[in-house]
Amino acid sequence: MEEKAKGAILQRDKETYAIVPRIPVGLVTPEIFKKIADVVNKYDIPIMKITSGQRLALVGIKEDDVNQVWNDLEMDAGKAKELCVHYVQACPGTAVCKFGKQDSLGMGIELEKLFYGKDLPAKVKIGISGCPFCCGESYVRDIGLIGKKKGWTVIFGGNSAGRPRIGDVIAKNLTKDKAFQVIKDCLQYYTENAKKKERTARFIARTGIESLKECVTV
Ligand code: SF4
Repeated sequence: MEEKAKGAILQRDKETYAIVPRIPVGLVTPEIFKKIADVVNKYDIPIMKITSGQRLALVGIKEDDVNQVWNDLEMDAGKAKELCVHYVQACPGTAVCKFGKQDSLGMGIELEKLFYGKDLPAKVKIGISGCPFCCGESYVRDIGLIGKKKGWTVIFGGNSAGRPRIGDVIAKNLTKDKAFQVIKDCLQYYTENAKKKERTARFIARTGIESLKECVTV
């Protein structure tokens, strides 16, 4: 069952499953909340957990209920185990924050559409911040973006896990389209040169940042 049901992850009790609906940049609506609350009540799902990636995990779903839960939710499954872009997190940025220099939410939504689910050597997480205060954790995500007055800074190779790594700045003062291009170039180089399951942080620690920078069109 574990691999058959859409986006279902077997839990440590070896009986129940967790699912993570796709919620780009963590932006929700009353309709999404209502739908989730209705499903949680209907199927008696014991745990709802906001994740570090600004997603909402529904945990403890009975095996026989998983497919029906997805049907009722009418939402896409978030990536959780595949080797690809799992999610894009973003701070509020200029949409609401008085410190914002760039539109991090808008950038995140576009980036999510462009790169979400893209096959890669390992999972990739993206963090976007609308100003140098960096609330989007941009230095410790595989790909980070920081909005500044003159444009976007792109960072690559960060990780916040057990072997943390501060990502390297690849380019600064970029327009949105130029930032997309730099990210595409970074992911292309990573895809062509990394080992299977080698996260960006370990890849850059092994190969160095300079050869990656040489392949980036700035
Ligand atoms: S990173 Fe800057 S723009 Fe984003 S929430 Fe933090 S202070 Fe606001």
